[in-house]
Amino acid sequence: IKTIGVLTSGGDAPGMNAAIRAVVRTAINKGLKVKGIEKGYNGLINNEIVDMDKHSVSDIIQKGGTILYTARCLEFMTEEGVQKAVENCRKAGIDGMVVIGGDGSFRGAQKLAAHGINTIGVPGTIDLDIACTEYTIGFDTAVNTAMEAIDKIRDTSTSHERCSIIEVMGRNAGYIALWCGIANGAEDILLPERYDCDEQAIINHIIEGRKKGKKHHLIINAEGIGHSTGMARRIEAATGIETRATILGYMQRGGSPTCKDRMYASIMGSYAVDLLNEGKSNRLVAYKNGAFIDYDIDEALAMKKDINEYEFDVSNLLSR
Ligand code: ADP
Repeated sequence: IKTIGVLTSGGDAPGMNAAIRAVVRTAINKGLKVKGIEKGYNGLINNEIVDMDKHSVSDIIQKGGTILYTARCLEFMTEEGVQKAVENCRKAGIDGMVVIGGDGSFRGAQKLAAHGINTIGVPGTIDLDIACTEYTIGFDTAVNTAMEAIDKIRDTSTSHERCSIIEVMGRNAGYIALWCGIANGAEDILLPERYDCDEQAIINHIIEGRKKGKKHHLIINAEGIGHSTGMARRIEAATGIETRATILGYMQRGGSPTCKDRMYASIMGSYAVDLLNEGKSNRLVAYKNGAFIDYDIDEALAMKKDINEYEFDVSNLLSR
């Protein structure tokens, strides 16, 4: 490997910049050249490829988002699109690639690897929904941002003796909801993996709480369940308690990454370059049982992940 490319793809996540910086600095310090590809796979197809040096990643470790921009690229889902991308890689002299993104992005990485570009994936998503790893870049910042916002909403909810439904992100996964649910001391935590659509149980829980003198009732709802506004309307009608829905939305994806996200992103970015240097391809960097490891992408994408049962039980015990 002489020249590696780096790109970010799919949804952005805080800490992606720290990962880009780690890839660039590690590669250059180990004698490789680095090119940055802008806007994910779009940039590979449209030749938006820039030379990167150590200076091009100065002053970015503390910044949210991604300096390489990110995008979803439909053309890359076609064989012609992949061909174009591979040709552009060859023209730019890129023989290794680091793809920072989620499961979708890794399916793209598989295609590059199958066409002879040594490709390594780094997990970057706030949703924590990548099966082979216990950690994804951006999750820690996102849960901290959401937790702080929920604390603020809780203050006004208590003052007005309201019920609050707060909808957090996570796509089809409930990790952000579970973590905030526990960390914010919510009365109900609704996870797509476990939700039984029993609104009456929530309503009963609110009424019981009110009888016991509770000043508020905090419900954390996951994006994968959604419909928070309708739920609030129905709960208010059934309980007579003023109920408001807040959808936190994109604020959870932005902001300066936490120490943990910067640290893990730095190690994972460096690790990806080491794998390329060892001649590896079609691998994913992961964190498991306290160690940084790597998996074959095909194997990793076939793995399944679920909410930790013990954490789920604890969340139920603490919300009652
Ligand atoms: P994430 O990486 O966060 O899961 P997406 O699922 O939107 O985000 O995927 C990001 C991009 O990865 C897509 O826009 C597309 O360019 C590429 N991609 C996803 N699936 C495939 C696939 N099966 N083949 C090739 N490229 C893919």
